[in-house]
Amino acid sequence: MKELKDYVRTIPNFPEEGIMFRDITSVLQDPDGFKLAIDEMTRLVADLDFDVVLGAESRGFIFSAPIAYQRGKALVPVRKKGKLPCDTVEVEYDLEYGKAVLEMHKDAIKPGQKVLLVDDLMATGGTIEAMIKLVEQLGGEVAGILVLMELKGLKGRERLSKYRLDAAISYE
Ligand code: IMP
Repeated sequence: MKELKDYVRTIPNFPEEGIMFRDITSVLQDPDGFKLAIDEMTRLVADLDFDVVLGAESRGFIFSAPIAYQRGKALVPVRKKGKLPCDTVEVEYDLEYGKAVLEMHKDAIKPGQKVLLVDDLMATGGTIEAMIKLVEQLGGEVAGILVLMELKGLKGRERLSKYRLDAAISYE
């Protein structure tokens, strides 16, 4: 039987020399791989109470949507700057390779709501930390962080040690 990790393809030196890129397209293009990924991520947060699922553009959308759907919770897309039509809150942050601004609608989270943050992969934890800042700006409470993959060497878990963090796959 193939394990979830077996569906992830690794591409050396993409998008830059020295980066081992963990590719999720190979997970998604096999129905068994995608099912395994969503089932495992859902299982990891089965005991967690939350009101809203936040997914980061763009690979985060793929994993946040089925989890929100399965748990019967609201889904909030966090988008790159300039894409959302109503009033937004925004945060600038550093990527593993570059800088970016993320935005979320101001009315997406009500004060006191419990929020689950979802992304495909956590490297340095910068993207997740930016999402946390958006949630906390609006008075939301981070209930947990859920990623398909965690790159342990980049110490995102230490950076976000205040929060519960679940990962379906860990790479050293
Ligand atoms: P961080 O902000 O350093 O934690 O980087 C995580 C973000 O970069 C996520 O939104 C990922 O989609 C993206 N990312 C970084 N490395 C990889 C990778 O190896 N595969 C897929 N996405 C990656």
